[in-house]
Amino acid sequence: MQFHLNGFHPGDPDIYKVDASRLDEDKDIPEEVDVLIVGCGPAGLTLAAQLSHFPEIKTRIIERKPGSLEKGQADGISCRSMEMFQAFGFATKIKREAHWINETTFWNPNPDNPDEIHRTGRIQDVEDGLSEMPHVILNQARVHDRYLEVMANSPTRLTPNYSTELIEATVDDSANEFPVSITLGRVGEEGPDKQKHVRAKYLVGCDGARSAVRRTMGKELRGDKANQAWGVMDVLIDTNFPDIRLKSLIKSGGEGNIIIIPREGGHLVRIYVEMDALSKEQEVVLSDVKVEDLIAAANRILNPYSIDVKSVAWWSIYEVGHRLTDKFDNVPVEKISEQIPRIFISGDACHTHSAKAGQGMNVSMGDSFNLGWKLVSVLLGRSKPDLLHSYSEERKVVAQDLIDFDHEWSRIIGGPAQLASADKPTPEFQKYFVEHGRYTAGLSVKYKPSLITGASDWQHLATGFDIGMRLHSAPVVRLIDAKPMELGEIVTADGRWRLIIFADAADPLDQTSRFAALSDYLSMNQDSPILRHTPGDADFDSIFDVCAVFQQHHRELDAMQMPELYRPRKGALGLRDHEKTFSRDPKRSDVFSLRGIDRDQGCMVVVRPDQYVSTILPLDAFDDLAGFFDGFMLAAKN
Ligand code: FAD
Repeated sequence: MQFHLNGFHPGDPDIYKVDASRLDEDKDIPEEVDVLIVGCGPAGLTLAAQLSHFPEIKTRIIERKPGSLEKGQADGISCRSMEMFQAFGFATKIKREAHWINETTFWNPNPDNPDEIHRTGRIQDVEDGLSEMPHVILNQARVHDRYLEVMANSPTRLTPNYSTELIEATVDDSANEFPVSITLGRVGEEGPDKQKHVRAKYLVGCDGARSAVRRTMGKELRGDKANQAWGVMDVLIDTNFPDIRLKSLIKSGGEGNIIIIPREGGHLVRIYVEMDALSKEQEVVLSDVKVEDLIAAANRILNPYSIDVKSVAWWSIYEVGHRLTDKFDNVPVEKISEQIPRIFISGDACHTHSAKAGQGMNVSMGDSFNLGWKLVSVLLGRSKPDLLHSYSEERKVVAQDLIDFDHEWSRIIGGPAQLASADKPTPEFQKYFVEHGRYTAGLSVKYKPSLITGASDWQHLATGFDIGMRLHSAPVVRLIDAKPMELGEIVTADGRWRLIIFADAADPLDQTSRFAALSDYLSMNQDSPILRHTPGDADFDSIFDVCAVFQQHHRELDAMQMPELYRPRKGALGLRDHEKTFSRDPKRSDVFSLRGIDRDQGCMVVVRPDQYVSTILPLDAFDDLAGFFDGFMLAAKN
């Protein structure tokens, strides 16, 4: 972590110096903003946290509720979301507070006594090597708190405007640079005289399943409206059920199904109770269900075990369909070549699905992380505005996959239990769960070739970094201080691109090596993307962070001797950044072997600001590299 670059920074390094332009700024919503975000759920807060680090961008976030969430809603945090939290700097805090899902168990009716359940499987939850991050469980509200903290400590000191709701929005593309006109209201204060009118460059609706922003675009969620309903309760219990601190999927003989999810802080447990069996057999109407009904159902399903609920922290009946809207921005497909998106929706505003796969919060945050860097690039004049079309294109595919997965998973998990037989020794729900482990970890997203995702021509140079997928971290050692670390740690949520140069086997100081030629090209050639797209008065690594990883033992190399590119002078004092060169870790796995990197040729791995691999190129593919960035970036005005 670097925090003395511009002079000694006393105190908590997570608290940034406030940007001078923000010192006198009114916390109220000004009449003109660059980005207005609606909704302080996981989608809205991910976007706000990212934008809050750019004082040049005037961002506001509004929320209808009077304050931040305290309990309830989602709790599953996938490995992929943890990787993203690492980029925001709070993964360690989450790891400490959350409950870790290490193993998952499966329970079915006991064939010798079908009224009772017995354990039929116990598996490792996340397969080895899938991610450096664990799968954890934490109250959604605490994730909100972390984002709010990032925003409050950022140079813009961004805080939400609560009790404020979006009423209406329109776009006039012929208007000045603020084409979105927005009407806001104060909750509980009605009448046009109480309304406020704001103009924005971009409006982002992170306002949940009943999104008003989506409505203003004339779009709706389509799909099954009524899915199976599940009762959910967060409870403090006494129990003799042995797997109470493991995630457990339980199917009973005739009483229905439950999912047990151990929660943070010890003692607390979330129990999802399938409502279909309850409502059919007990003839209960959903709106009449009480928490006592959920507790009684859980006890019937758990037989011969039982729970004694001492306290109910939160409970609800969660009933959602598998629904999706056709586009995540306001530009009709036929107008893509002539119109730039001005309104976006993200998270549950675009897609809804059951809670059973634990994806709601994760996919919503993933949507906004995808959109955030694109808005930053366009608003700061780094990229052409048509980059913004890629948000809907990329994320709609992810949402459709989620809905397809959830459909199937709901059918399997909600279906009746099947007793084990010789030809089917493993129950279907356990088999499906294992087969889709990568999916639920959030690690199967793969963006298709596009302006920002290259083709697979050079994939063979690094077979373990899939083009279009998130950068799969691996152990490395930093040269300057011999710190063992994860390669993924270098990609922080700062909107920069990473060029990770995996050097060929030659001595990096050999001036005739391909590594040396590439380093010269990147730092000195006028066609180099760095020179073309970085403003002359900005730090040399302000748009592209170039790092190198070497095959030699770190003690054989001298960081101080590396080309200037990997130790640029920057900041107010012109100090050198020595933290850009790495080597394989001699004590842990060798990154070159682990990620299938061609040792003779080396390669360049181009990583997007949201941690996805854009392309892989040979070390001498100078023109291809320049052409890739010219496709969507603008030359810097120098
Ligand atoms: P949300 O978290 O829904 O956030 C939207 C925000 O926008 C809200 O804070 C809302 O108040 C605000 N808003 C809405 N309209 C306006 C407006 N016009 N102006 C200003 N603000 C507005 N997932 C699970 O996995 N398990 C669960 O048990 C579970 N239970 C849930 C219970 C409830 C009551 C809800 C609403 C959701 C639940 N979810 C659950 C879903 C999960 O919380 C969502 O998938 C996730 O929060 C999606 O994040 P989001 O930011 O897209 O939307």
